[in-house]
Amino acid sequence: MSFAKLKAARQDKPSYVTSNALPSQESSAVPSEGAKESLYKSIPDHLQIRTSAVSGRGLWTTKPCLPGQVLFAVKPHVAALSNERLALHCSQCFGGGGNAGLKRCTQCQLIYYCDSTCQNLDWTFHKNECIALQRVTASGETAIPSDAIRCLGRIMWKRQKQGPASPWTQEIDLLQSHKQEVQPSAYELHTHLAISLVRYLGLSSPSEIAAFGIASGADLADFVSRFVTNTFTITDPSLAPLGASVSPPVALINHSCDPNAVVVFPRSRPNNQEPLMQVVALREISANEEILTAYIDTTLPKAQRQTSLRETYLFSCACALCMSTQSDLRDSVWCPKACGGVCPAPTEGKFTRLPRSCTYPHNGTENSLSRCTQCLSALQKTDEVLDALRIGQQALDKASLLQSTDPAKSKQLCSKLIPILTSAGLTPSSHPLLALTRLYTALLIADLQSSSPSQETLDEAVVCATKAVAGLDGILRYGHPVRGIARAELGKLLAVDEPAPRPPAASAAEEAFGAKRLRMALDVLLQARGELGVGFGAPNEGGAVGRDVREDVVRLERELGVWQKGLSEAMRDANEAKTVQRS
Ligand SMILES: [Zn+2]
Ligand SMILES: [Zn+2]
Ligand SMILES: [Zn+2]
Ligand SMILES: [Zn+2]
Repeated sequence: MSFAKLKAARQDKPSYVTSNALPSQESSAVPSEGAKESLYKSIPDHLQIRTSAVSGRGLWTTKPCLPGQVLFAVKPHVAALSNERLALHCSQCFGGGGNAGLKRCTQCQLIYYCDSTCQNLDWTFHKNECIALQRVTASGETAIPSDAIRCLGRIMWKRQKQGPASPWTQEIDLLQSHKQEVQPSAYELHTHLAISLVRYLGLSSPSEIAAFGIASGADLADFVSRFVTNTFTITDPSLAPLGASVSPPVALINHSCDPNAVVVFPRSRPNNQEPLMQVVALREISANEEILTAYIDTTLPKAQRQTSLRETYLFSCACALCMSTQSDLRDSVWCPKACGGVCPAPTEGKFTRLPRSCTYPHNGTENSLSRCTQCLSALQKTDEVLDALRIGQQALDKASLLQSTDPAKSKQLCSKLIPILTSAGLTPSSHPLLALTRLYTALLIADLQSSSPSQETLDEAVVCATKAVAGLDGILRYGHPVRGIARAELGKLLAVDEPAPRPPAASAAEEAFGAKRLRMALDVLLQARGELGVGFGAPNEGGAVGRDVREDVVRLERELGVWQKGLSEAMRDANEAKTVQRS
């Protein structure tokens, strides 16, 4: 069946869609339970697919949900590791994290597995993929196709095998299309992907794509566009990206820049059930509220979020955060009078200098000065802030690009720019200061892991991780996985500072400092445990990082116990000595 026919068929029976109270283009559609039963079986009964005029299809809850509740868990329809991760992880379960113990496919020699169980489970996908990859290698091409192409290839082979009538294929074909809204830049990317896919599948002309149930080149372009706007990045338990995946049930969830849920991969199940996507509630969600996740990095300020959503996901975001008229810490500068309040960061062209005599607060209007939201003092050094924002963004782009190829240069850029942005008055939550701080922390941690840690690097990493935590706290909801991971990193850094077993302290003061530091590490790790327990799902207990943190907590509590015992013994000895002296 062609896409056009499928679409027509869908219009005849939009059956998997239940109408709701919101004004809806499809609200006249009669829900047909029969079709719903055959599709989206992984969605539990307390969640419902509804349509609204504003955002099309979405997922709504019929029952109240609690923070940390796993709303549903599902294996993606397809997944592919990114090129850099191919030799480091199992291509079936995405486990591993180093190729020790992984077994390579003897045919293509490019794909790795934990064992024969994982290899057998992946065979539906890898059977044809293996041949395609061997063809690429034999052709003398050095570059392995990207995860996007390999993911698309996996979809094509599986839909060919399953047939157009299978729920698997139907769910894939029902991924939301934004064909009309495709921007020229996105169109180029989609065309490039379509051409690469045709070549990867070993077809000599685009018309041969009919063998995969796709009628024409135009339908293929539409297919690729649906794929791009519905792809999820699979992450490891510490949120590092591993590759691309497609899950039609999860793709039903609409976007918000202040989401009430997140999609995570806590790795809490046996390998044969992984990679398992889990949709977790971040806050209380009431009955008949829409489930919303974020498609993009929500630490970015509005302008960048909007651009990224428009370019990749082809829509303009009208979420509560984007529509809010309140100033946002993502775009903020400390009050020039240091009253503790903040001013909205100036934007090019929007803020011009007014005569000094003008004292009226022009808050929020065009061509006004940026003013402190608390004491209304005007931000005078607009040009300095604008300069800092511009060079900060340039440095961030460059440093991110160099992160893996030239980490030393990347680190240098961060360490140079962070003080400039800080002295321009940017708050720790504001962009690009927060992004640079997080990148710098990651680079310092990588340094500490690779070499014997120097005290300076460790101190700098602790300072930097503390700033990152403070910055994230200002803009992300409690329990957001990014906050939980950042806290876990800080706690671990604080704990490293006290290598065990410790040499005897030279003085009581040093000993007291050591204990204080240890207590601080414990406090931060306990906070991390709480937040990870929400963001990675309460039943998963924080996922793999949460388990790690719990072990650290136990170890620190034991060490602190030793400390306390040591201190009280030392005090008793001192008292006894005094008593002896007195007598
Ligand atoms: Zn595996
Ligand atoms: Zn192979
Ligand atoms: Zn938004
Ligand atoms: Zn102020």
